[in-house]
Amino acid sequence: MKYDYLVVGSGLYGAVFAHEAKKKGKTCLVIDKRPHIGGNIYCENIEGINVHKYGAHIFHTSNKKVWDYINQFAEFNNYINSPVAIYKDELYNLPFNMNTFSKMWNIKTPQEAKDMIAKQVAETGITEPKNLEEQGLSLVGKDVFEKLVKGYTEKQWGRACKDLPAFIIKRLPVRFTFDNNYFNDRYQGIPIGGYTKIIEKMLDGIEVKTDTDYFEFIKENPDIAEKTLFTGMIDEYFGYKLGALEYRSVRFETEVLETDNYQGNAVVNYTEREVPYTRIIEHKHFEFGKQEKTVISKEYSSEWKVGMEPYYPVNNEQNNKLFEEYRKLAEQEKNVIFGGRLGNYKYYDMDKVIEAALEMVAEEL
Ligand SMILES: Cc1cc2nc3c(=O)[nH]c(=O)nc-3n(C[C@H](O)[C@H](O)[C@H](O)COP(=O)(O)OP(=O)(O)OC[C@H]3O[C@@H](n4cnc5c(N)ncnc54)[C@H](O)[C@@H]3O)c2cc1C
Repeated sequence: MKYDYLVVGSGLYGAVFAHEAKKKGKTCLVIDKRPHIGGNIYCENIEGINVHKYGAHIFHTSNKKVWDYINQFAEFNNYINSPVAIYKDELYNLPFNMNTFSKMWNIKTPQEAKDMIAKQVAETGITEPKNLEEQGLSLVGKDVFEKLVKGYTEKQWGRACKDLPAFIIKRLPVRFTFDNNYFNDRYQGIPIGGYTKIIEKMLDGIEVKTDTDYFEFIKENPDIAEKTLFTGMIDEYFGYKLGALEYRSVRFETEVLETDNYQGNAVVNYTEREVPYTRIIEHKHFEFGKQEKTVISKEYSSEWKVGMEPYYPVNNEQNNKLFEEYRKLAEQEKNVIFGGRLGNYKYYDMDKVIEAALEMVAEEL
C-alpha cells in the first residue's frame, strides 16, 4: 500500500480530512474527477473577480470552533448577506423584515406590520394546510406569500405550490426589526481572495490528482491505500443498485458585462414565476470589488438526471429511505468511510461540513 488514505473528492470535506490526517503523520492521496480542487466552493478568477462557479457561497456560522478553524486558512472580510427581491417593478429587502413591510404596506411600526400579517393570515381561513401554497399563506398571508415566496418556490421546484407538499416550508421567518442581514449567525464573511485559496492551503504538501475519476482509478490501482474516504455520491459508489437518489440541479449562465456595477448588490432574487431564473449573482460585490467590468451569473433551477451535477438532495420520505438502505451497505464496506454532502445525502452548509469532517477526524484518527 502506497498511502494510508485515498481521499476521493477535494471539496471542503475531503480537504479538511486530508489536512488533519497529514498533521497526524498519515499519508494521503487526494483525487478529484473535476479539473480543479475545491468541489463546490471553487472560485474561478474572471476579470480579476472571484466567480463562485457552483453558486454563491457565503460563510456563516455560530460555532466559534469552526470559525477559528477556517480562519487559519484565510482572512474573512465583513460581507453581510443582504439580498433584495424583485417582483415585477417592485423591489424589496430580504429576509422579510420591517424594511420589506414598510415598503409593501407603507407602514412604520412593528405593531402595524404584525397586525397586517395577522389580518391577512386570518383572511385565508386556513387551519390545516394541505399543500405548500396553503402552508405559505397561513404563515405570512397573501401579500408576502404571493409577491416573495410563491413564484420563487415554484421555479425552484419546477412545480406549482399547490402541487408541492406543505412540509417543504416549515417556517417563513419574519423579523420585526429593520435588519437586512439574511443570516442569524454570530460570524459571517467571504474569504479575501476567494475560497479556492483555502483549499490550496489545506492541501499544501499533499499529493493531489485532478481529472481523476475514482471508479476508473481504483480499477487500475486497487491497492493504492489502506483506507478510502469517499465524498462522492453514495448511490453511484454502489452502482445505483438500489436505485438513484434524487437531486435538484442548478444551471448557471455567467456573463462578463462592460459596466462596473450592474445591480448594486451581490444577490438579487427574482420572485415572479414569469422570469425564468431565480437569482442573479454579481460576484464582485462579495469582495467589494472595484474592477472596471463585472461578472454576473443567472441561476436557473433544473430537473436532475443521472450524470448531471447534483446540487440539492431531495430529502423526501422515499429518498431518505433509499439513503438509509445505502447507508447500511456502506457500513458493511470494509475500509471505506463515506462523508460530505454527497456521501451523506444531506444539504450541509460549509460550517456543518467542517464540523462533520472534524468529528470524523476525531473518530478515525
Ligand atoms: C448552489 C449552492 C449554494 C451554496 N451556498 C452555500 C452558502 O452560501 N453557504 C454555505 O455555508 N454553504 C453553501 N453551500 C453548501 C456547500 O457547497 C457545501 O457545504 C460544500 O461545498 C460541501 O463540501 P463537500 O466536500 O461535502 O462536497 P463537494 O464540494 O461537492 O465536493 C465533493 C467532490 O468530490 C468529487 N467527486 C465526486 N465523485 C467523484 C468521483 N467518482 N471521483 C472523483 N471525485 C469525485 C467532486 O468532483 C467534488 O469536487 C451551497 C451549496 C450549493 C449547491
